[in-house]
Amino acid sequence: MRVLLVEDEPELASALRAVLARHDMVVDHAVDLVEADQIASACAHDVLVLDRQLPDGDGLTLIPKLRARGNRVPVLVLTVRSEIADRVAGLDHGADDYLAKPFAFEELLARLRALLRRPANMQSEVVRAGRLSFDLANREACVGGTVLELTRRETLVLEALLRRVGRMVPRSMLMEAVFALGDEVQPNALDTQVSRLRRKLVDAQGGVLINGVRGVGYLLRETP
Ligand code: CA
Repeated sequence: MRVLLVEDEPELASALRAVLARHDMVVDHAVDLVEADQIASACAHDVLVLDRQLPDGDGLTLIPKLRARGNRVPVLVLTVRSEIADRVAGLDHGADDYLAKPFAFEELLARLRALLRRPANMQSEVVRAGRLSFDLANREACVGGTVLELTRRETLVLEALLRRVGRMVPRSMLMEAVFALGDEVQPNALDTQVSRLRRKLVDAQGGVLINGVRGVGYLLRETP
């Protein structure tokens, strides 16, 4: 899951990045509207966490811009202004939810989970292939009732492959799912993650195979 975090307060931003990363999210971070707009154009995100009071203007003004380009990313607005009028303004601008500062991280995570569970963004809570099941809410992969021990990045690769099971997933899409902008990434980093994941799935007798086409991408399918 990939998050775009737009927050200019350095301490809050770095705390949020750490919390989101611990919950298996890939985080791109922007400190102002200009940067947020650029990153939102460059990559697809599953959710946008948007501060209102930014150095170059009100965060809310970003939402109509994104929508005009057909970007339907769910938006959670962070605001210190908790008056009713501001809440209405947020929803009028196309925000999906808002959270008043200061907030508990647990509440933020709960709101994000709720946004990501909305039917338009997620068809089913559990994806299955072969003997493998993957719970999209708690991000657990199971084979025959046993939870697979996967690293954060292996989990992200598996989720991206399962969302398009039986179809080739381009390298660029997998890279986007697994690595944030600014991560130092070796050329074969994705292939290393896939190899480890593939071995774990075979060891667990998951009934699925990952096939790769060099330079193109990877495909997960059920074992015939
Ligand atoms: Ca701010």
